Amino acid sequence: MFKNVLTAADVHEFKNWMTWADRFVILTHTGPDGDAVGSSLALCSFLRDKGKDAVVIVPDQAPDFLSWLPGFKDIHVYAADSGVCDELISKADVLCGLDFNTVSRIAGASAGFVSSKAKKIMIDHHPYPGPDFDLTVSHPELSSASELVYHFLCAMGQYKSITEDIATCMYTGIMTDTGGFSYSSSDPNLFIVVSSLLDAGVDKDAAYAHVFHSWSESRLRLQGFVLHEKMKIFKDCSTALITLSSGEMEKFDCRKGDTEGLVNMPLQILGIKMSVFLREDSERNQIKLSARSTGSVPCNRFASDFFGGGGHLNAAGGEFNGTLEQAVERFMTGLKSWKKSTDDSIRQLFKQQ
Ligand code: 5GP
Ligand code: MN
Repeated sequence: MFKNVLTAADVHEFKNWMTWADRFVILTHTGPDGDAVGSSLALCSFLRDKGKDAVVIVPDQAPDFLSWLPGFKDIHVYAADSGVCDELISKADVLCGLDFNTVSRIAGASAGFVSSKAKKIMIDHHPYPGPDFDLTVSHPELSSASELVYHFLCAMGQYKSITEDIATCMYTGIMTDTGGFSYSSSDPNLFIVVSSLLDAGVDKDAAYAHVFHSWSESRLRLQGFVLHEKMKIFKDCSTALITLSSGEMEKFDCRKGDTEGLVNMPLQILGIKMSVFLREDSERNQIKLSARSTGSVPCNRFASDFFGGGGHLNAAGGEFNGTLEQAVERFMTGLKSWKKSTDDSIRQLFKQQ
């Protein structure tokens, strides 16, 4: 039987907002992924079906492999249209923050968000929720913000309002945040949620094909290049590092989302427990870090200790202001200092196989 992590009391306040509020703005994190976009579009579609004036704002463009999602074309991109987005935020009655735990994650939209007098709700599954919200619905034990939106709608007594479109958005968020159900998806309850989404009409094979089988030739060649030329293995640290410069990405006609998943690949090597990916982000003039780990190795601590970031235990990110070479130096310094750590979860990296 489905066990809802939320109760009617948890959503009472939001239900109350729904009685008087008309304008809802849903915001999600920079570098929007399948869960960010899926959870946001699901909530937006639900609110629109209830007659609300609801919009989704992403800080920067979402990748093309999500463009088939119902409602995708109506998404506002802050970086492309900051004036319109700031006005939408300033006129909102309710601001909903999905799939992020601190306002710095919404980049340019954060100033308007913080100064707004609107009611603010966080619906998220990252650990350590930050301040700046009137209501915080935070469940790090769940696979995704999309799964949490499902719990949220059910706790509001709105199970029957979950249309095929809403279900498709939520399913896609769950599928992408669990790597196609290969991690963060051991809770049997999740499959009851998935079962009910399939019941609502989700075409799961189509969702998989849209997201995972829609690569360009150059993206596949980029993957080959990265694995052959750009992956360094630090055996004594059970760690892998991949770096990509802007020039290398240009050479492979790299589009938004084309580097997605690269960071996971070294974990396929026996004995590798942490994988780090550093890439030049010429749009934001900085180095972007992605990190993945297995078991109890805390890659979110690597991201926060050395790259001012954070995230989940096994999937995290951060940023670095400087050159790619300097970022690699920071990575090396980080590993070196971790080598001295007495923390058991970190020590696992340095145990002999
Ligand atoms: P990805 O590597 O897919 O970009 O991100 C993995 C996870 O880390 C996501 O859950 C994302 O929300 C989080 N994350 C990515 N970049 C950052 C960052 O710069 N700061 C923080 N705090 N979290 C991040
Ligand atoms: Mn997520």
